[in-house]
Amino acid sequence: MTVTTEAVIIGGGVMGTSILYNLVSRGVKSPILLERDTLGSGSTGRSSGAIRMHYSTEVNARLAWESLKIFRDWDSMVGGGQVGFVKTGYMVFVPDDAKDAFRQNIEMQQKVGIATEIVSMQEARELAPAFRLDESEAFAWESESGHGDPSATALAYSTRARESGARVILESPATRVEITAGRVSAVETANERYETSTAVIATGPWSSRFLTHLGIKLPLKPTRHEVILLRRTTDAIPNHPGGGDMSNLIYFRPEGPDLTLVGNGNREEEANPDAYNPRATMDFVQDIWGRLAKRLPGIEDAELFTGYAGLYTTTPDLHQVVDKVDGIEGLYICTGFSGHGFKLAPAIGVAVSELILEGDAKLLDISSLRMSRFAEGDLNSTRYSFKVIA
Ligand SMILES: Cc1cc2nc3c(=O)[nH]c(=O)nc-3n(C[C@H](O)[C@H](O)[C@H](O)COP(=O)(O)OP(=O)(O)OC[C@H]3O[C@@H](n4cnc5c(N)ncnc54)[C@H](O)[C@@H]3O)c2cc1C
Repeated sequence: MTVTTEAVIIGGGVMGTSILYNLVSRGVKSPILLERDTLGSGSTGRSSGAIRMHYSTEVNARLAWESLKIFRDWDSMVGGGQVGFVKTGYMVFVPDDAKDAFRQNIEMQQKVGIATEIVSMQEARELAPAFRLDESEAFAWESESGHGDPSATALAYSTRARESGARVILESPATRVEITAGRVSAVETANERYETSTAVIATGPWSSRFLTHLGIKLPLKPTRHEVILLRRTTDAIPNHPGGGDMSNLIYFRPEGPDLTLVGNGNREEEANPDAYNPRATMDFVQDIWGRLAKRLPGIEDAELFTGYAGLYTTTPDLHQVVDKVDGIEGLYICTGFSGHGFKLAPAIGVAVSELILEGDAKLLDISSLRMSRFAEGDLNSTRYSFKVIA
């Protein structure tokens, strides 16, 4: 069967659904989203959901800040369901040798308008008494940051998009994008053909593989990352804010009344998105729990609640690719979000819809996310030498 539509989005993670919603709400008629499996079945459903602003580059700091405004005011700006935004505040910890980069980052973030400030050890202690702090470290406090629910966000975007006429088709892997005379002419699945002049590839960890049939080679690597949740004894640690801890190379956040989620930035391995181990390993549990205990004394007595692994889509500069494809009219790529796509998704949806409809992103300059930067050797600088926070 052949269907004709103005746009096809390939991939039903938080990116694809955000783009779908933003296109339909800007007047695109009946766009279609094709999802291989179920909504959120890729990275989105395994995301830790942290929403923090600390980045080294203006582009990601601005995307995070613009997105936070949407998360905070979700009901009036998007709607379609609860996305579970919880403001906990977020503390950034850096070791002595990263202080220069840290100060430059905070200065840039403050220019963007982000609510962040460097705080003294005494102030940090008052803000978050549960943390063990070291005199050699520096600390920043983001009062507005917190976390949300990535799967619920994808669902809310798709619900709102469908209410406005979009179609979301599950269990329908796109098999190819058809190009005719240098332009997108259709997207195909095993059983259907969707005639369209616009296709957006938002296929997360499957992107590198999917792009092959188009002859597009990008350094996109699916990498496996583990996370655990611990049930605290609330006598020892009643509560704590979120944190990006570059001394111990972990990030963490509270979940509900007594759980603490913890993940890391320095353990990763390349993985096959169709066949990776989705469970946490004992080695990881031991390592990460020990590291968290250095920051959060008392967590040694917690109970292991659960653990799992998911996939990042990693690029050499840990920055995403958001671009139109030169030489193929109507083809767009939105992938490679490493460990930070959830918190950027609301603004990315706006920027990509502007790119498609107006030829350029108006919300902010996204030229540093162009696909040609790898071949040009013009990578984004992450300032830090570690990967917990890019
Ligand atoms: C363990 C972990 C922790 C994380 N923590 C955070 C965090 O705290 N904060 C944060 O901001 N980010 C975090 N992230 C990153 C964030 O989750 C991702 O960057 C984001 O979810 C990427 O969304 P996406 O839509 O690009 O990809 P995905 O969610 O992977 O979506 C891609 C979709 O495309 C579908 N697909 C693939 N191929 C096809 C095809 N041929 N046809 C149709 N559909 C196809 C897939 O099934 C999938 O559903 C974390 C990620 C992981 C794994």
